Amino acid sequence: MKIAVPKETKLYEKRVALTPDVIKSLVKAGFNCLVETGAGFQSNYPDESYQKAGATIVLAKTELYQEADILLKVNAPAPEEIHLLKPGAVLISFLYAYTVPGIVQALMDKQVSAFAMDAVPRISRAQKMDALSSQANLAGYKAVLLGANYLAKIFPLMMTAAGTITPAKVLIFGAGVAGLQAIATAKRLGAVVEVTDVRPETKEQVESLGGRFLEVKTDEGVKTEGGYAREVSADYLQKQKELVSKHVAEADLVITTALVMGKKAPVLITEDMVRTMKPGAVIVDMAVESGGNCALSELNQKVVKYDVTIIGESNLPAQLSMNASDLYAKNISTLLSHLATKDGFKWQMEEEITKGSLITHKGELVHTFTKDILS
Ligand code: NAD
Repeated sequence: MKIAVPKETKLYEKRVALTPDVIKSLVKAGFNCLVETGAGFQSNYPDESYQKAGATIVLAKTELYQEADILLKVNAPAPEEIHLLKPGAVLISFLYAYTVPGIVQALMDKQVSAFAMDAVPRISRAQKMDALSSQANLAGYKAVLLGANYLAKIFPLMMTAAGTITPAKVLIFGAGVAGLQAIATAKRLGAVVEVTDVRPETKEQVESLGGRFLEVKTDEGVKTEGGYAREVSADYLQKQKELVSKHVAEADLVITTALVMGKKAPVLITEDMVRTMKPGAVIVDMAVESGGNCALSELNQKVVKYDVTIIGESNLPAQLSMNASDLYAKNISTLLSHLATKDGFKWQMEEEITKGSLITHKGELVHTFTKDILS
């Protein structure tokens, strides 16, 4: 079976789906690996490193797509790229299929079987395939550094002959994968860290990293499904707003990571709240691609509103492309090895990981969650 790895075409993308190390093990397992020229360049992997690992470098994207039995990518291909694939080819990449009906249609039209990395169930058995977590972990780290760069103050307490500098206050919304890494990073740099999350069980994790948990007192139980929070009520969000408003006003850096799977991100920082913030404060809105947790953030822009810098960078992992590609390549190759051997795919349709991540198959949309949202 031929695995093809193209150069990513999405704006600002620097990651690549497979690294030379992982190619080496796939070649050893009997796969034939084709890599588009320059695919790994922005992750510091030149063509020669792939050749050395046993891959063939392909110069033309069209040829690569036409040859592929299995196309491995970071981002979803465009419909015109999908049309280049052979009927029956398999795609594995991030898809967020419920947000891109045009791509789902193109996959069905072309009889491409597509597995979505973002739909791999968050179960222990699939941890090594969990690209959402591996990338969010890096993004949480980078969000803190990015925010710190725009602050005109340092993070740690510093006692000097000229006076004492008090530590920066960092407030984090959401203690999922990205949020927990942001807490750890901000603590390592010496900040005082406060955190809010709708899932009460995150309190212990936040405190174990040295953060202070801001707990919304309510009888409302927050439902979770597959490790994700489900939507909370307007009443809950109002109580949360009352609790955190004062802390937003006092924060130097606010990082928002609040996500409700399959829904628009909840707006947790309103324009009025931004207006109360200190001049020079910074917000990094990590949920900007899902609509944003801050009412004023703009996709892939840095804006200054009411003397507050608001960063809406949607692809933080790409800024750490080397580590991000290394981890992604392990995630995607582990999923591939679970689903297929060099001789073909197993198609165990009722197996949890297959069922959870297979979006289209034999011309049909087979993924229940995506079907529900798109219908
Ligand atoms: P996650 O599901 O692990 O964590 C999200 C957290 O938000 C959960 O703990 C959830 O309980 C919490 N949450 C939901 N509603 C909330 C609310 N009202 N208040 C406070 N917390 C709330 O997700 P993750 O993998 O950590 O990713 C977090 C976010 O970062 C997502 O929006 C994801 O798309 C985004 N992300 C962005 C980048 C980037 O480059 N900007 C990179 C990776 C992930």
